[in-house]
Amino acid sequence: MTGRIHLAIVGGGLAGITMAIYLQKFPHLSVDVFESAPEFSEQGLGIGLSDLALRAFDEIIPSVAEFLKSKAGAVAIGASRVGSGSGVGTVVADLEGDTGLAMNRASMLKALLELLPSEILHAGKKLLALEQTDSALQLSFQDGVTLSFDAVIGADGIFSSVRKHVLECYPGDHMASPAGWWDSRHAVPVEKAKAMLGEESLDIDREYAWAGEDAFMMHAPVENGTMIQCIISAVERDHNLARKRPLTREVLEEIFGAGWLANPVTNGMVELMLEQENPREYSMWDHKSTPAYARGRACIVGDAAHTTTPWQGAGAGLAIEDALVLGHLLSNVSSPQELEDAFKAFDKVRRPRCQAVIDSGRATGRLFCGQNPDVGLSAEKMGNALGPLFAHLDTLSLDSHKEAALNNLKAIQAS
Ligand SMILES: Cc1cc2nc3c(=O)[nH]c(=O)nc-3n(C[C@H](O)[C@H](O)[C@H](O)COP(=O)(O)OP(=O)(O)OC[C@H]3O[C@@H](n4cnc5c(N)ncnc54)[C@H](O)[C@@H]3O)c2cc1C
Repeated sequence: MTGRIHLAIVGGGLAGITMAIYLQKFPHLSVDVFESAPEFSEQGLGIGLSDLALRAFDEIIPSVAEFLKSKAGAVAIGASRVGSGSGVGTVVADLEGDTGLAMNRASMLKALLELLPSEILHAGKKLLALEQTDSALQLSFQDGVTLSFDAVIGADGIFSSVRKHVLECYPGDHMASPAGWWDSRHAVPVEKAKAMLGEESLDIDREYAWAGEDAFMMHAPVENGTMIQCIISAVERDHNLARKRPLTREVLEEIFGAGWLANPVTNGMVELMLEQENPREYSMWDHKSTPAYARGRACIVGDAAHTTTPWQGAGAGLAIEDALVLGHLLSNVSSPQELEDAFKAFDKVRRPRCQAVIDSGRATGRLFCGQNPDVGLSAEKMGNALGPLFAHLDTLSLDSHKEAALNNLKAIQAS
């Protein structure tokens, strides 16, 4: 290790593992990843990566689309279509061409883990406390072990311990809170989905999204197109409920009133959701504000820094952008003393970008559930409003973003 900058990544989800894959390419950096769970694994169903997320990923893992198709069963997602609830089946947006890749989360993480040497991956290591000394960061784990690193990158998700450390000097509570909706997901074999939802909305590989009063439905292919992920989301009226709670027929019947049931897909979706062993509603939470992504030798990335709602399917994409930008900065750092400045430069360029995506995610939820008062359930207005909400997600110039980060670092170092 002598002479190398020794970094700890806390959290072995998509953000931490992507970060590790990129950082281990730089010979002057050494990386260890600490995961609290007994093994590195992902829960949940499908995940979609946008065109921009894939371009960022390609700089980290060359030919990443081919890699994900062959190793994680990723499928190209075609145009997505949104039918409005009041004008059932009305197409409000029909995007041309491929919009990204969709795959199973666990398959994606498993494929990524194969790119890392096992000796840097430490499962069953829950971080309990961090302490900054003059020249290092001490990490104390639940198993009683304390280790010292030049810096820590917190990729420990929505309830991040590293986030708490970074933000403890700021007044107020900056942890994630309910965003206003819940969702429920279930993946079924494609033949079953066709039988329950109808052949016509599953004729080609594409996301179908149905927007309507106080609720939203979507189905999309995963696992090489052999499975269909079905999603129901709805407005959450009471934020004081548990984050995870049982989903019942009564709730679904109340949400999908007469207007929704005229939609041929609705009944099938309701039945598919209820056939699960333990149907659940999951409250959507996000970060409303974050005063800093860095403090001294600690920095946060992924959901630890910017948890967003799933409305734009952008959270993992942001984590990949984080890895690209922070990796670019750290590749330009030659001593541990420069790490604090690199983290500050990362914070300056990434925070506005990520908060804008979190905010547009919430606005997209309001639009899709008919809660935008200027749009309501008008198919035409919804179609027009969608473009601006999604445009900023994919138009970011990765080269300019990286350059801005490096210029920030140079300016901080010169000041
Ligand atoms: C329903 C849903 C659908 C989504 N769909 C999409 C999509 O289609 N496209 C997209 O881009 N994004 C999507 N997202 C967002 C995306 O899933 C997340 O942004 C991404 O998975 C976050 O990864 P992460 O590694 O930052 O966090 P996590 O996946 O939460 O990983 C954090 C890791 O840190 C570990 N950890 C926590 N505390 C500690 C500790 N103290 N010590 C050590 N380890 C610790 C945890 O065990 C976990 O493994 C969706 C999110 C949701 C909720």
